[in-house]
Amino acid sequence: MQQLGEIIINGLKNMNKIKKIKSRLNQCYHWINQIKSYNLFYWYRGIENSLGREVNTNGRKMIMMGSYDYLGLSQDPEVKEAVSKAVLKYGSSTGGPRLLSGTLELHEELENAIAEFKGTEAAVSFNSGYLTNLTAISTLFGKGDLIILDKFDHTSIYDGAKLSGADIQIFGHNDFIALEEILETSDNYNNVLLVLDAVYSAVGSIAPLPKIIELTKKYNVMLYLDEAHSLGVIGEKGKGIDSHFGINNKEIDILMGTLSKALASIGGYIAGSKELVNFLKFFANGIVFSGSPPASITIAALTALNLMEKDDSRLKRLWKNIEHYKSGLNEMGYNTMETESAVVPILIENEGVAIEMTQYLDKEGIFTSPFIYPAVPRNTARFRTCMTASHTSEQINRVLDVFEKAGKKFDLI
Ligand code: PLP
Repeated sequence: MQQLGEIIINGLKNMNKIKKIKSRLNQCYHWINQIKSYNLFYWYRGIENSLGREVNTNGRKMIMMGSYDYLGLSQDPEVKEAVSKAVLKYGSSTGGPRLLSGTLELHEELENAIAEFKGTEAAVSFNSGYLTNLTAISTLFGKGDLIILDKFDHTSIYDGAKLSGADIQIFGHNDFIALEEILETSDNYNNVLLVLDAVYSAVGSIAPLPKIIELTKKYNVMLYLDEAHSLGVIGEKGKGIDSHFGINNKEIDILMGTLSKALASIGGYIAGSKELVNFLKFFANGIVFSGSPPASITIAALTALNLMEKDDSRLKRLWKNIEHYKSGLNEMGYNTMETESAVVPILIENEGVAIEMTQYLDKEGIFTSPFIYPAVPRNTARFRTCMTASHTSEQINRVLDVFEKAGKKFDLI
């Protein structure tokens, strides 16, 4: 399977070197067909129906190990009922952008609820988490500014920084000596922004916020944190990274989050000062020039947020499940990297082995996707599995059992 790994990697490496777009499209088409010919294609798998922790694909029941529905709220009866009622009351679309005809009172209710939950003055929602980073960073910053990124930041942050036109400096993951060297020479910019994932999606670790704030204060730079994988997972009632460290979030200029993970919907938000939110509402093209989310999407996130705040039993179950799962993997000898969250990576290293192992896991009824270069560095292929509050102990034991057999088969443990 080494060969398939090489085909995938070489195809990715060479794709952008092909200058003519038509040739690039043809090359990509040929490359995907070549991968498919191995009958080991585990991307874009169609799900026929879902109970969250359990899905059906190709007529087979599988345990879902790749879902970000951390608290299992997408299947909660209250959330489902609220969504059904909203469709009957509002229809399926808003028919316009927020600025013009597409603002529902529900959008404002959700934004107020997010601001209250996060303890900020205000919040504004976007159509996706990706769009939030892309739009917010590129609207707020531009030429004459410096944006500093951790190597492991999410692609949407990189894309937002590139679109902004600001200078970009990247430091090695959590390498604060390198970060300080960049900060020491950042005097000449109009604005300097440090953007970090609160929980790193490729390794599951939590950003060391106290150290980061020490540096942003020392050098007087702005801080933007992406809470895609921390909201609903860490802190009191899942309030996120500031609550986890007991830090007043006035020290964080811009708090970003997604609605597509613990909040069981789709969308993103920026929370912060009322001036920041007001500015984005009028100048962020991703809001102003894009149709607004329908009521069903908005009420799903709002209901999930209310449930999260009211009852932390799902959060407790999530952490019990994480401990069960992670300790089981570690006892077998798997490397789960730096994880401190519901993202539990399982390091495989070789890309070909990761793909072949996906086939084994798939046959055994475990749904997980290989995570390979360029999403992660070469030879650090992994399964980025995710734990949720809704997995049962029996399911976790079953997954551990399959990973044990797979690990022995592929000489990993
Ligand atoms: N930020 C991080 C850290 C993510 O991991 C993701 C997606 O997984 C996003 C942003 C994009 O969010 P969404 O999937 O809601 O568009």
